[in-house]
Amino acid sequence: MSAYYAIHDPLIERVLLTEDEIATVCSTLGARISADYRGKPLTLVALLRGGLVFLADLCRNIDLDLTLDFMAISSYGTGEAVRIVKDLDDDVAGRHVLVVEDLVDTGLTLHYIVNVLAGRSPASVAVCTLLDRRARRIADVPIAYRGLEIPDVFVVGYGLDLGGRYRNLPYIAVVRDEVMG
Ligand code: 5GP
Ligand code: MG
Repeated sequence: MSAYYAIHDPLIERVLLTEDEIATVCSTLGARISADYRGKPLTLVALLRGGLVFLADLCRNIDLDLTLDFMAISSYGTGEAVRIVKDLDDDVAGRHVLVVEDLVDTGLTLHYIVNVLAGRSPASVAVCTLLDRRARRIADVPIAYRGLEIPDVFVVGYGLDLGGRYRNLPYIAVVRDEVMG
């Protein structure tokens, strides 16, 4: 673990979730999803860029015939509004859509995405998030698959960034309070 660069980074306080803990979560969620969607046309939709790493591990733990698609959204202003920067490539009509997200915070991003996707005649839309931080929830989005609940700290790694950095860490780390202000 100490071989990874961020362990000695002054911005990083501690490791919150190890590589092994994340792997266990991916395997547990993957097994549940495999059972729930058996025989159904499933599309996993990852939200770029943060959801990419989780999607890569999760999809390999799902033993089903499925497709992958990607969406990028951007928040602007105070984060109250979001817009689509990159839309799905494929039509999801008639398909079961599972949105794969790294972390649900206020829930505003997912609330928006789920509404957009629900308007495209899918067979169903559900959410799978690796991390859930309820402390700052504003929009009450139903989360069908939840990896782990985390405390009210800012985290990086495993897809999650700080100014674009740290996405490649194989673990999830807590950023020092002083950094976030
Ligand atoms: P929400 O719309 O739920 O407030 O926003 C969730 C998104 O904000 C996450 O997908 C993630 O991109 C970003 N985010 C929220 N909390 C954190 C955090 O602790 N660390 C990082 N790196 N991104 C976060
Ligand atoms: Mg995100």
